[in-house]
Amino acid sequence: MGADKTPDNTAPSLDPTDWEAFRARAHAMLDAAVDKMEGARGGRVWTPVPDGMKTDLRNGLPEDGRGGAATDAQITALLQHGVGNTHPRFFGWVHGAGTPSNVIADIAAAAMNANLGGRDHGAMYIEKQVVDWVRDLFEFPQSASGLVVSGTSIATIIALKSARDRALGFDVRKTGVQSAKLVGYTSDQSHSCVARAFDMLGLGSDALRRIPVNDAFEMDMDALCATIGADRAAGLHPFAVIGTAGAVNVGAIDDLEAIADIAAAESLWFHIDGAFGALGVLSDRLRDRLSGIKRADSLAFDFHKWAHVNYDAGFVLIRDEDAHRRAFSDRPDYLLPATQGLAAGNPWPVDYGPELSRGFRALKIWAHLNEHGPAKIGALITQNCDQAAYLGRLVDADAGFDRLAPVAMNICCFRAVPTGLDNAALDALNDRIVVALQVSGIAAPSTTRLGGKVAIRVNITNHRTRFSDMDVLFNAIREVVANHV
Ligand SMILES: *Cc1c(COP(=O)(O)O)cnc(C)c1O
Repeated sequence: MGADKTPDNTAPSLDPTDWEAFRARAHAMLDAAVDKMEGARGGRVWTPVPDGMKTDLRNGLPEDGRGGAATDAQITALLQHGVGNTHPRFFGWVHGAGTPSNVIADIAAAAMNANLGGRDHGAMYIEKQVVDWVRDLFEFPQSASGLVVSGTSIATIIALKSARDRALGFDVRKTGVQSAKLVGYTSDQSHSCVARAFDMLGLGSDALRRIPVNDAFEMDMDALCATIGADRAAGLHPFAVIGTAGAVNVGAIDDLEAIADIAAAESLWFHIDGAFGALGVLSDRLRDRLSGIKRADSLAFDFHKWAHVNYDAGFVLIRDEDAHRRAFSDRPDYLLPATQGLAAGNPWPVDYGPELSRGFRALKIWAHLNEHGPAKIGALITQNCDQAAYLGRLVDADAGFDRLAPVAMNICCFRAVPTGLDNAALDALNDRIVVALQVSGIAAPSTTRLGGKVAIRVNITNHRTRFSDMDVLFNAIREVVANHV
């Protein structure tokens, strides 16, 4: 070795110099993580970030690093300041609760540090199996394609880009949408990610028609047909209809079979936003109402919501593999496929989505399904529906409260209606109730507006929630009302 070279045994790297010390560090963090998870039922739901921690996290980047011990201390302190979704009384928006086993899969995924853009390696076969399992769960044909993604938002963009490109011809990838007059349809309850997809695909969010809903908050089929007819008469080009299997507001499921019929008759791409509701196919309670999923052209859903895979874990499933691949595949010379060696195993995930480098999200999904199996996950979904129905009965039995929507699945929306307050005062009161509960640490519902009224919205996508948590929640709400009026 030349005297001008650094000897290899002292060459710098990012590996630990003392592996035994590193092992102890890693074990300590694992213990802190397990402590956090073992205590998930107790303590506060949401603990605001203390000012000292906020200050600490505004320091500049330390030029020579703070070292492992200081970094681990900062991470450990952070563990108590999640949004609260690991707690059984987190009822806000739609968040999954996660599981301890996911930590194990994430440790292995970090150790492998796999890039799943493509190539022929072990991680790819795990993702392929996840794709196969998903296809079977939703009764899509063997030829359908799928991709693990971060969430339903990007899954929706991928699905609707495939729909757009098939409708306009795949040359649109070069020419752009120009003066195309594509329009699509969804209910006025659909998630904002659908309009965002239209925006990002160059169609404009105005090209997404918001169809009104019926009393059950499901898309009105007559209004859908009338709007399609009017658009055709105006020379526009209807290309897609987006049904929702579990709308965020009240958990409504559109009549997916009826939408499938209309999509077939009108030659529209039928996409389903099933972010949390689609996995209801695992539940005996919900399966029949989701039968239309198997007729969809594409489905976007999340594993990180009602299946409780840790964030983030979404999926897009597309019936027409050819359209899916032609909407994304575009390999430069340095990524050309091969039949042997590392560049084999085609087509690759990069051919089905906008990302080249992709982490090993598939492992935690695969491990979760492999360990628990769909039957248990489905039973937990049913349990959450029963809990929402139970809360609905508590609300209905109390004259001081109005339920503002049917309990279609796992969401119960209601509000306190003490006598003597006008609508504006009731809105303010119900807003205050939710904030008071969140700040108290007892429970964390969120709010929404239904028919011009502020509603307390209780969403249960949580395998830790018990029926007694509904009693704790409702009693706490009654107490806040008593103290505020
Ligand atoms: C959560 C949700 C989305 C967005 O999914 P992300 O995983 O957050 O991107 C879309 N639609 C519905 C109905 C949702 O509940």
